[in-house]
Amino acid sequence: MKTLCVGGGPAGLYSAILAALREPDAEVEVLERYAPGDTHGWGVVFGESLLDDLYRNDPESARTLRDAATVWSRQVVRVGGAEPVYLGGRYGFSMGRTRMLEILTARAEELGVRMRWGTELADADLAGIGDEADVVVGADGAGSRVRAVHDFRTTVTSGRNRYAWLGTESPLEAFTFAFERTDAGWIWFHGYPSSGGTSTCIVECTPETWSGLGLDTLDVDAGLRLLDGVFARHLGGRTLLRPPGRASAAAPWLTFRHVRTAGWVDGSVVLAGDAAHTTHFAIGSGTTLAVQDAIRLAESRALFHDDPAGALAGYDAVRRQEVDRIQVEAARSMTWFERLPELLEGSDPVRFAYELLDRRGDHSESWRYGVHLATQVAGLRKVRQGMTRVRRTARAVRRGERVAP
Ligand SMILES: Cc1cc2nc3c(=O)[nH]c(=O)nc-3n(C[C@H](O)[C@H](O)[C@H](O)COP(=O)(O)OP(=O)(O)OC[C@H]3O[C@@H](n4cnc5c(N)ncnc54)[C@H](O)[C@@H]3O)c2cc1C
Repeated sequence: MKTLCVGGGPAGLYSAILAALREPDAEVEVLERYAPGDTHGWGVVFGESLLDDLYRNDPESARTLRDAATVWSRQVVRVGGAEPVYLGGRYGFSMGRTRMLEILTARAEELGVRMRWGTELADADLAGIGDEADVVVGADGAGSRVRAVHDFRTTVTSGRNRYAWLGTESPLEAFTFAFERTDAGWIWFHGYPSSGGTSTCIVECTPETWSGLGLDTLDVDAGLRLLDGVFARHLGGRTLLRPPGRASAAAPWLTFRHVRTAGWVDGSVVLAGDAAHTTHFAIGSGTTLAVQDAIRLAESRALFHDDPAGALAGYDAVRRQEVDRIQVEAARSMTWFERLPELLEGSDPVRFAYELLDRRGDHSESWRYGVHLATQVAGLRKVRQGMTRVRRTARAVRRGERVAP
C-alpha cells in the first residue's frame, strides 16, 4: 500500500509518520516544494489536547516536541499604557514552526518515509496524481493546488483585516494581546514565546489603519521600524523581525483566507489540514487540527484496512463534522477582531479583556465575569495559578509525560 503526501507541513508529515508506523513495510513519500527549514511563519501555540493526541499516537515524537516547547502560564491583555489585565486559568504551549517541522521530518525519515524536497508538481501532474498511490493526501496548505485541480466544492472567502506573522527577539513570558491607538486607528499584536529566546508577534489591524499608517506603501523594513515605535512599550526595546521564508518575508501583509470544502475526498485523493479547512489564527488551532486530521485518517485506514475507498469516506464523514463546528467558532473570533476598534474605543480595559475572552460567545454566565474581576487581584490570581499548575501536572502525568519532581 503506497501513501503519497503532497506538502511537508504538519498535516503531510504527521500523515506520513502514522502511515509508516502502522505499516512499516509500506511505501510512504512526502513531496515538499521547498528545501528543509524553508518555511513561512514564526511560532505556533497549542494546548493539552494536541499533546494528549501526540502521546497516544507516537510517544517518540511527542516527547521530543514537548521537550522543545515553551510553556506559558499567563495570558495578559495590555491596552496602551493601562494596567495589564489578566485572563485567569489560561496556559498553553508554544514553539517555533521551523523547529516543529524539523522534529516531525526527522521522525518521518527515521521511520523510512522518503522526503522529496524541492518538488512542486504542475497542475497537470496534480490532476493525475490519484494514480500515483493507493492514498494521496493533499496537505499542501491553504492555497492548495491539489484542491484546486480536483473536485472538492470549495469556498474561499477573505477576512477584512490585515495581518503579518512577525517575530521579535523580545522574550515574552506571557501570551500577550497588546493594543495601541495610533492617529490612524487601533493596531494590536497577538504575542507569545517561540523557540530559542524569540517570540511571535502577529500584528493585525483594519485595512483603514493599515493604509492610514502607510504600511501599504512603505517597504517591509521601514514598516517594521514604524511598528517598533508603535509597540515600543511592549517590546522592551527590541525590534520586530520579518517572517522566515522567502515569499512571506518579501510580502508579509496578508488577509486571512477562510477555506471551506463540502467534501474532502475525490477518488484516492483526500484533503487534510489547511488544504481542507482553515481556522483564523486568533484561536491558535490550525496546527492541532492538521495533526488531528492525520490521526483520524490513520484511524479510519486501520478500521477499513483492505478498503481504501471506505477508509477515506469514513474519514470524510467523521472528521468534517468535527471541524465544521470549530470553523464556525473561529469565524466568530475573526469577526470579533474585525469589529475590535468599535468595541475597544472608550471601553474599560478590564471589561474589554473579558469580551476578548468571550469572543466566541461561550461565556454567557454572569459568575464568569465575577471570576474575571477576582483574577485582577494579585493574591487571588496566584491561588488560581497554583490550582492551574496542579491541573496541568496531573494531565501531563496521565498522558505519560516526564514531569520534573
Ligand atoms: C498568522 C498565523 C498564525 C498561526 N498561529 C497558529 C497557532 O498559534 N497555532 C496553530 O495551531 N496554528 C496556527 N496557525 C495555523 C497553522 O499554521 C496552519 O493551520 C498549519 O500550518 C496547517 O498545516 P498544514 O500542514 O495543513 O499546512 P502548511 O503548514 O501550510 O503546510 C503546507 C506545506 O505544503 C507545501 N506545499 C504547498 N504547495 C505545494 C505543492 N504544490 N507541492 C508541494 N508542496 C507544497 C508548503 O510549502 C508547506 O510546507 C497560524 C496561521 C497563521 C497564518
